[in-house]
Amino acid sequence: MASTPKPNYVVMTVECPYPDCQEKQTVHVIARTGFGQMGDQTIKCVKCGKDFDVLVPDKIIDGPFGTNLKQAVAIVKDWVKNP
Ligand SMILES: [Zn+2]
Repeated sequence: MASTPKPNYVVMTVECPYPDCQEKQTVHVIARTGFGQMGDQTIKCVKCGKDFDVLVPDKIIDGPFGTNLKQAVAIVKDWVKNP
């Protein structure tokens, strides 16, 4: 399976600003030295699907991802341990 190498990135946790959602999610922000400039970027919430602005140090290259992905992985691991 071929995969395109990704540039270095940092994972940032952001929270949906809508009071009826407030879903925590993560975005991958490119990690560069010397070029970073803080700025607003718009992402679409993984839960409610509304657009909102996040303040990040550089370009978002991937995401957002729901944080419940980790929970899902943990559940699978538990299930493998205790089938
Ligand atoms: Zn939301």
